[in-house]
Amino acid sequence: MAAIKTEAKSTAAKRDYPKGVSILHDPMLNKGTAFTEAERDALNLRGLLPPHIHTQDEQVLRVMTNFRKKPSDLEKYVQLVALQDRNETLFYRVVMDHLDEMMPIIYTPTVGKACQEYGHLFRRPRGIYITAGDKGRVARLLKNWPYRDVRVIVVTDGERILGLGDLGTFGMGIPVGKLSLYTACAGIHPSACLPVTLDVGTDNESLLKDPLYTGLRQKRLRGEPYDALVDEFVTAVQKVFPKALLQFEDFANINAFRLLEKYRNKICTFNDDIQGTAAVTLAGLYSAMRISRGTLKDQTILFLGAGEAGIGIGDLIVSALMNDGLSIEEARRRCWFVDSKGLVVKSRENLAEHKLHFAHDFQQCADLKTAINRLKPTALIGVSGMPRAFTKEIVETMARINERPVIFALSNPTSKAECTAEEAYLWSGERAIFASGSPFLPVTIQNKTYVPGQGNNAYIFPGVGLGVIACQAKHVTDEMFFLAAKALANQVLESDLAQGRIFPALTRIQEVSAVIAKAVAELAYEKKLARKRRPADLTSAIKSIMYKPVYPSYV
Ligand code: NAD
Repeated sequence: MAAIKTEAKSTAAKRDYPKGVSILHDPMLNKGTAFTEAERDALNLRGLLPPHIHTQDEQVLRVMTNFRKKPSDLEKYVQLVALQDRNETLFYRVVMDHLDEMMPIIYTPTVGKACQEYGHLFRRPRGIYITAGDKGRVARLLKNWPYRDVRVIVVTDGERILGLGDLGTFGMGIPVGKLSLYTACAGIHPSACLPVTLDVGTDNESLLKDPLYTGLRQKRLRGEPYDALVDEFVTAVQKVFPKALLQFEDFANINAFRLLEKYRNKICTFNDDIQGTAAVTLAGLYSAMRISRGTLKDQTILFLGAGEAGIGIGDLIVSALMNDGLSIEEARRRCWFVDSKGLVVKSRENLAEHKLHFAHDFQQCADLKTAINRLKPTALIGVSGMPRAFTKEIVETMARINERPVIFALSNPTSKAECTAEEAYLWSGERAIFASGSPFLPVTIQNKTYVPGQGNNAYIFPGVGLGVIACQAKHVTDEMFFLAAKALANQVLESDLAQGRIFPALTRIQEVSAVIAKAVAELAYEKKLARKRRPADLTSAIKSIMYKPVYPSYV
């Protein structure tokens, strides 16, 4: 496959490109029925295509007509994957022009269903699979990737896919989907994106028995052999793709926190489940404060779930509060956690390492309801993967305590949400400030329509990635996520808030990502973390590297 530069080029030198069926079968170069007369001559395509030349607009019409006829979201997903495998430019044109419609298909919730059935839907491989058996040859595998100028790698080991648990290699749908969002939301060139799955086995018995499972038939590697494989992978990435940002995605929390601590100051890396989620949620809280006219300092935030997402959000809130002048102890006292064993308090034994700093000196509460009654939180954040955990009684209690209760049901996919948008609005007497992890349709109650915000990490990670790439940052810091959260919150319009929407409309996401990228790159320059010289006009420099789904001319 011929490589395309990260910076989109509208004209390409003829001699660099394959001819005949080879170019038709190269998704990065293929234009399908849009190849012009001159290109058909120059590239030996005469006779290989139907004679009528379509414009890209007409191709989009064809795709969208078929898309809207599909009887299920999973079939829509399959159609889009097939398009991406055939013609990436058209795929991104379709996705970017219809992001509201496409996001729930290429990402949560549909991607969750697609991962569960990945081996059954399997047609063409995408990305790199590195297995426990590849120890000693990981760099060689990475070199098999056809594009050299990789700038973003999303890697998973498939152990905690959304809220669905261990899906082994079926989890590959997540890196693939996330990278599509890097391109669609922040214009990272598709050829600069590499999805990776580390196949260290699976503990999911039904997958191990499934003849269509695509991964190793063995239990998960743990301990030293696991760490050694990850370490070899990280080292190989540095060697083969030295400019790449490495995003860890959907690792179980026993590994996610450790790996983040191990690598965050060594390489250019972050964990989206911990840091990306934190930033989007903090932005949501800032917007919610604009509605309730409160301040972050006045909040008591109660989390259901004390894993990667919950603790990541808590840590970023603490940084934000310290930035507002609170001591670390005062800041931590604003965040409380209920996990599967009740309220996280000091007297509890065997608390996991990542929860310890939020274990307050307080009486034990066995469940969420008791914790709410005793703590009187202003905000309730669901990151537990426990469907319907925010019952009518819980929401009603929050509404009794607060004029404008903040209720975020962030667990993904939709089937795992702690409550629905409609429930939050109805049970709170239409006073809840609501956000979810997976999208919910607008809710109309007595002629008033509420547009629930989606606390989608896609508001954050593509912009952060774009900023990191633009200045070639050496590391990704928590402060970058803090600034990204503020930049995102500042992009929410009064007209959004009036509808109850605490995030910007998805249609503005490229513009929002560019603003986030600028904030991130500015910080990298200020902290001397950038490897690239600062351009005179940073905004223009960022916009100039953003990919546009426009066909190149081959003649
Ligand atoms: P995790 O496995 O690290 O943590 C889950 C936590 O929930 C653990 O602390 C566990 O003890 C707790 N828990 C489980 N059952 C519980 C119960 N019955 N009652 C109370 N707590 C319980 O997972 P994570 O990475 O933190 O993700 C959790 C959820 O958040 C997932 O569904 C994920 O999809 C979602 N999430 C959403 C976003 C977003 O919306 N932007 C981002 C990241 C994660």
